[in-house]
Amino acid sequence: MKMTDKKIIIAIDGYSSTGKSSFARQIARKLSYIYVDTGAMYRAATLFCLKYNIISDCGLNVDKIIAHLKEINIEFVFNGATRQSETFLNGENVENKIRNIEVSNHVSAISAIPEVRTQMVALQQEMGKNKGIVMDGRDIGTVVFPDAEIKIFMTAKLKIRAMRRYNELIQSGNNVTLQEIEKNISQRDYTDSHRDTSPLKKADDAVILDNSNMSIAEQMNWFEKIYQSVIEKQRNEN
Ligand code: C5P
Repeated sequence: MKMTDKKIIIAIDGYSSTGKSSFARQIARKLSYIYVDTGAMYRAATLFCLKYNIISDCGLNVDKIIAHLKEINIEFVFNGATRQSETFLNGENVENKIRNIEVSNHVSAISAIPEVRTQMVALQQEMGKNKGIVMDGRDIGTVVFPDAEIKIFMTAKLKIRAMRRYNELIQSGNNVTLQEIEKNISQRDYTDSHRDTSPLKKADDAVILDNSNMSIAEQMNWFEKIYQSVIEKQRNEN
């Protein structure tokens, strides 16, 4: 990368547990870009609803969620020790709380509420207004940044995704079974792809990355080629 190269927006969407965050984080590090995990924002909103009993296993009270939306303040704070951004909800570091299975089981229903999405999308667009950003989620290339210079749509075989997420959760001390993880992933994919507002779908101009059998290094090589061709094109236009 040359200092004169214009900063771009890299939008990464795809199915649950396809490794979007690891891939996006690596790209951001390589390009010295900002990385934003939009799933963490929907997870933090879900945690808020669980904490204040706005949702329970009995169901969702959509009007109540909408009434409390303005009380949800989400920020990302860079942790110098881990060299990663952490999610804060109303001033509290919730990075470790938002990945648990309870949040995972409710997040797709919360993120299907149009008013929730409007609030999150406005925040995401503000974060990307100066470009130089890698953002991952479900609607980044279709809704948040439809003009992003690079759009990637990630997928991988369900069994492989479930195993990866299971290993991650076990390593971080969660007590889960592979079966419940697989069920959660496939249910989220279904709900995310079938909701009325901003469903998960590949943008027409996105490139597909199936990383079922790819290491992170191989994915980075794949990305490098796409990035170079976009940057070359920009240089020629200038
Ligand atoms: O990316 P992650 O798996 O953490 O996302 C959790 C959930 O948040 C997704 O299953 C989806 O319901 C929701 N989400 C969304 N739009 C985004 C990012 C995440 O609806 N841009």
